[in-house]
Amino acid sequence: LVQRLKDPTLLKSQSFIGGSWVDASDEERIDVHDPATGETLASLSHCKGSETRAAIAEASSVFKSWAAKTGKERSQILRKWFELVRDNQEDITTLMTLECGKPLAQSKGEFESGISTMEWCAEEAKRVDGDVICTPAASKRFLVVRQPVGVVGAITPWNFPFSMITRKVSPALAAGCTVVLKPSELTPLTALALAELADRAGMPRGVLNIVVGDAKSIGDELVKSDDVRKIAFTGSTRVGKLLMAGSAATMKKVSMELGGNAPFIVFQDADLAQAAAAVTTSSYRNAGQTCICTNRVFVHPPASRTLSLMVQESVHDDFVKELVEAVQKLRVGAGMDAATTHGPLIQHSAVETVEAKVQDAISKGATVAVGGKRPEYDASHPLSKGSFYEPTVLTGMLRATIDMRCFREEMFGPVTPVFKFSTDEEAIQMANTTEYGLAAYFYTKDLARAWKTAEALEFGMVGVNEVAITSDVAPFGGVKHSGQGREESKYALDGFLDMKTVCMGLG
Ligand code: ADP
Repeated sequence: LVQRLKDPTLLKSQSFIGGSWVDASDEERIDVHDPATGETLASLSHCKGSETRAAIAEASSVFKSWAAKTGKERSQILRKWFELVRDNQEDITTLMTLECGKPLAQSKGEFESGISTMEWCAEEAKRVDGDVICTPAASKRFLVVRQPVGVVGAITPWNFPFSMITRKVSPALAAGCTVVLKPSELTPLTALALAELADRAGMPRGVLNIVVGDAKSIGDELVKSDDVRKIAFTGSTRVGKLLMAGSAATMKKVSMELGGNAPFIVFQDADLAQAAAAVTTSSYRNAGQTCICTNRVFVHPPASRTLSLMVQESVHDDFVKELVEAVQKLRVGAGMDAATTHGPLIQHSAVETVEAKVQDAISKGATVAVGGKRPEYDASHPLSKGSFYEPTVLTGMLRATIDMRCFREEMFGPVTPVFKFSTDEEAIQMANTTEYGLAAYFYTKDLARAWKTAEALEFGMVGVNEVAITSDVAPFGGVKHSGQGREESKYALDGFLDMKTVCMGLG
């Protein structure tokens, strides 16, 4: 791996605590694999509770001095960090693709999004303003000042090894908090390269600490510590609920970006070609492994033949044809290969889970229109040990029912089930029939339908004739079991700041 980097010193195998690269106290190692080939990329020191306690102590000891810097001083360091990261794009995107499998073009897209957040937050550090409130009594004045919450424990997943970090660490540091970050043990190399660049940017020691190792022991220490005042988490709803419950004992703030189960409604007046292209982009991005991937497609018309005949603009069959043609053009392969549009899943167990969900759908009446299996490589093929699954479309299901795993659960794989609906109300009701509430999409040309549907969908983000809905300027987050709090945008720093009311008596 060292030979594939322009700057080999960005490759790290230790944790970063108090400004030093440190080994764990025991001998255990953690291997990082390329999911396309099974190759071992690096072997890392495996930290647990004691290293986490040390990192929390470092972050606590420098919190006051970091918070006391002016916004402009913090901004200058964050800006320098942004510039160094930007200048090392090639190495960082190589690390991202090798450790998480996504095609290089998608790593570059994630990189652009992540550095935009870094730049935005560097600027926002200068704008942590307060408020002056109209007085209810002539003898006093009310002011609101905003202060950083304290040490932040950030826990990030493997599917966006770069931007999930920038979304938490950048606003936290801009607000004046210090951070202990636990990146996913499956993709720690990108995170550690970011720490090296933060160090080069002059980030004071202890302000950003990264602990790589055992998820449960690191997470438990972060949650139980009274010095950690906020947990910022992206990952599964299961782990998010554990962290939130654990945080109650010390009354920490939490922000939770959890699972999704995004519906995509194709109304009868939709531009079918655009809708099919959008489903292809959204459903198969990162091999289906994003929390806002399209998970369930609902297409007019009704399943019933009689009703179907009554509806003039029945679009289901044409839409499925367009979608299958688009999916057939996807190219499965290693992310480093420029021809690849579609990389491996993160590990073999993920492929097995997807297979089980597809089998469940087939047993409940689904037909595989395309895909539905692993690609067949013979043993000598360089990708034969990769964790691949072919992009898949499932059709033929007469009715979406909650007992189908592909309707109820987040797929987290390259599989799109297509269901039918009769009326707008039914489509919206089926879309909302999920415990999740992160992203939803629909395509229509009718303005009234667009407005009513956007209002009725119980999701934190809605794409209307658009699936590229994330941006550094727009709030990102969900409702229901998809979490709470918002990342990105002018609200990004809010979750890392407390309000203090100052009431001043004038005598
Ligand atoms: P995913 O299914 O996306 O891997 P997880 O919730 O398992 O989602 O993982 C997201 C992050 O949470 C990773 O960094 C992982 O190591 C971490 N994690 C997993 N289990 C725990 C836990 N018990 N406590 C704290 N962090 C955890």
